[in-house]
Amino acid sequence: RDVLGSRGLGDVYKRQIKPEQESYMYKTFLIKYAEIAIKGKNRYIFEDALVKNIKYQLRNVDGSFEVRKESGRVYVETDGDYDYDETVATLSRIFGIVGICPVELHEDEGFDKLCEAVIEHINHVYKDKSFTFKVNARRARKNYPMTSMEINAAVGEKVLEAFPETRVDVHNPQVMINIEIRPMINIYSEEIPGPGGMPLGTAGKAMLLLSGGIDSPVAGYMIAKRGVVINATYFHAPPYTSERAKQKVVDLAKKVARYSGRIKLHVVNFTDIQLAIYEKCPHDELTIIMRRYMMKIAEHFADEDKCLGLITGESIGQVASQTMQSLAATNEVCHMPVYRPLIAMDKNDIIDISNKIDTYETSILPYEDCCTIFVAKHPVTKPNINRIKKSEERLNDVIDELMKTAIDTTEVIMVDAE
Ligand code: ATP
Ligand code: MG
Repeated sequence: RDVLGSRGLGDVYKRQIKPEQESYMYKTFLIKYAEIAIKGKNRYIFEDALVKNIKYQLRNVDGSFEVRKESGRVYVETDGDYDYDETVATLSRIFGIVGICPVELHEDEGFDKLCEAVIEHINHVYKDKSFTFKVNARRARKNYPMTSMEINAAVGEKVLEAFPETRVDVHNPQVMINIEIRPMINIYSEEIPGPGGMPLGTAGKAMLLLSGGIDSPVAGYMIAKRGVVINATYFHAPPYTSERAKQKVVDLAKKVARYSGRIKLHVVNFTDIQLAIYEKCPHDELTIIMRRYMMKIAEHFADEDKCLGLITGESIGQVASQTMQSLAATNEVCHMPVYRPLIAMDKNDIIDISNKIDTYETSILPYEDCCTIFVAKHPVTKPNINRIKKSEERLNDVIDELMKTAIDTTEVIMVDAE
């Protein structure tokens, strides 16, 4: 019987059999993170940010939690009385985490005790034992008297003896029994995937242009996933756009905040600027000119909030205002980098992410957006920047005042995750 063949590190197991949580409750979670482990001397900054974020995100979950780091691992300890599902759901939204492993920690009291603990683990966690398994031992502490291979083989034997209905499958096991020899012995057989990415707060801040559509919440999520703190700006046009359209944007921000943490949202009254553009500029250029002023105002607040860039949900060719010529025309007004994480994505892939982060259902609610109020029947798809600038000159005598008023009357809302 082949119980060897462990590939050790990187042997990530996606669970196929769900543990019987009602009969067994873990006290500890082993948190795995990949990318941040490679950051050399800055590693502690990333680990500390991760620990801080985990503590922060768990503050509203039932139970009391301790979060500690120990040589390349982060542990979340509970007193055993906590909401398991909510804890796992919360952890699986924290950027930087690649795997959440409910784990048992045992003092090292010799190999026999280790085998007993593994058997007890299986007994508790799996009601039906007719599964295939593989033992995957790792020694982070090299003074253990057996090698990983020896542990794999010997523990495998004991498991087969204790549960004759199990079988070994080293290539595609249904249950991976992980044993890590650290100061404590870690036993776990489940790894729930985390979102990956980098811990929030390790990469600066950026200003998201957040509309009520499908794309911009996804764009914000994607940049936040790289550790960037997100502020947001929304343009509305009352009375042409309703209070409910604004509420929809706040609701979207709440959803994104489940991942990104609290979002400072600027709500700009854009009506008078839009009306002025509508009145004075060629109608086929309305959208582009309007978007240029949106970028300028968003950049004003980005500067004020010490952001290092803007974020939009634009994607090449999606609509007339997102051709490469149009993107060049809107980009031209900004001095900050504009991050467009969806730029090369297809709508279906964007929708998949919006479903995953649970913004889709809110995004498709049918409230009007300020971009859809004043639209031309035939917008330019290849705007000429010089002509656009010429058209904008027609706003010269009013625009400074209008911009100032829009900025001065902007409402700031602190949006927390719901
Ligand atoms: P979305 O689904 O994000 O609304 P869209 O496909 O509707 O995008 P546009 O309406 O052309 O595309 O907007 C492009 C981008 O400009 C949006 O992704 C968003 O970042 C920004 N934007 C558009 N309208 C607004 C608005 N009312 N307030 C803030 N930002 C906006
Ligand atoms: Mg839109």
